[in-house]
Amino acid sequence: MRSQGFKKKPDKMKKRKRRENVTQQNQCRFCRSKTEYVDYKDIDVLGKLLTHRGKIFSRKRSGNCASCQRKVKLAIKRARFMGLLPFTS
Ligand SMILES: [Zn+2]
Repeated sequence: MRSQGFKKKPDKMKKRKRRENVTQQNQCRFCRSKTEYVDYKDIDVLGKLLTHRGKIFSRKRSGNCASCQRKVKLAIKRARFMGLLPFTS
């Protein structure tokens, strides 16, 4: 008889906790740095707001406020037109 390899898992397994304790920032990243104009030329900033396929992150994902998201949208579209950022396709 071969020994049974099956072992019952202990009841006290560590349950994965969802990130509930994440402190929400009360201001978006552009409001904190007090930038009035999002430049289309700084790709380092705009590249963080894109997926690897080139889509713009939603406001919920990026944490931008509504007015800053509009500025980001305009800046990304300008950067795409200038060939700095990829289009989605
Ligand atoms: Zn903002």
